Amino acid sequence: MNIIIFGPPGAGKGTQSSFLINNFNFFQLSTGDLLRNELKSGSKLASEIEVLMNSGKLVSDDIINNLIEKKLEDKSIENRIIFDGFPRNIDQAKTLDNLLEKHSQSISLVLNLKVDYSILTKRISGRLSCSVCKKTFNEFFDPPTTCEDPNCKSRTLVKRSDDNEDTVSKRLKTYDESTLPILDYYSAKNIVSDVDAMGQIAMVSDQISNIIKDLKS
Ligand code: AMP
Repeated sequence: MNIIIFGPPGAGKGTQSSFLINNFNFFQLSTGDLLRNELKSGSKLASEIEVLMNSGKLVSDDIINNLIEKKLEDKSIENRIIFDGFPRNIDQAKTLDNLLEKHSQSISLVLNLKVDYSILTKRISGRLSCSVCKKTFNEFFDPPTTCEDPNCKSRTLVKRSDDNEDTVSKRLKTYDESTLPILDYYSAKNIVSDVDAMGQIAMVSDQISNIIKDLKS
C-alpha cells in the first residue's frame, strides 16, 4: 500500500511518517529531505534550489519528478511508500500516477492532516530536529537540549533555514494556491481520509493507525 501524507507545512507530516515507519513498515519518501540532500552537493543547481526553498516557492517539477522517478526504481520500497511533501501541484499528482502505473503500483490512501493555520507559524518557527535520526522537537512546546531518543546518540539539533516566520507565511500561500487543489483530484478517486491533526501527537497517530488497519482488513 502506498500513501500520500498531505497537509500544510507544520501539520506533522514528518512526525506521523515516523510513526508509520516504526509501526507499519512504511518507507518515507520526502521530497524536502531529498532536496536538502541535494543542497549539500554545493553545485550551481543546488544554490538555485536553495533560493527557491528559502523563498517558500516550489522547486521546478522537472527536478522533483526526476528525484521521484529514481526512487521508484528501488524495488525494496515497492508498495510501502509514504509520499511526504509530494505531490505539491496537480501536474506532480498526474506525473505520480503515471510513474506508479509504469511500476504497477498506485496510491491507496491520502491522509489529509487538518490543522488551523493559526498554530502553524509557532509550530514551524520553533521546530528543531536531530541531525542524525531526524526526530523533531519544538523550542516553544517541547524544548530539548539534546536529542533524547534513546536509540540515537546524536547531540546536534539543527534548525531548517526555511523554518522562520517570514518564509512560513510564503510557504502557506504556496500551499493554498498550488497544493490544496490536489485534494479535489484525490477526493474524486475516493481515497482521502481526514485526520484531526490539532491534538497531541499520539492522538493523531491513533486516528491514522485506525484508518490503516481498516484499509488492511
Ligand atoms: P518540505 O520539507 O516538504 O517542507 O519542503 C521544503 C521546501 O522544498 C518547499 O518549501 C519547496 O521549496 C521545496 N519542495 C519540497 N517538495 C517539493 C515538491 N514536491 N515540489 C516542489 N518543491 C518542493
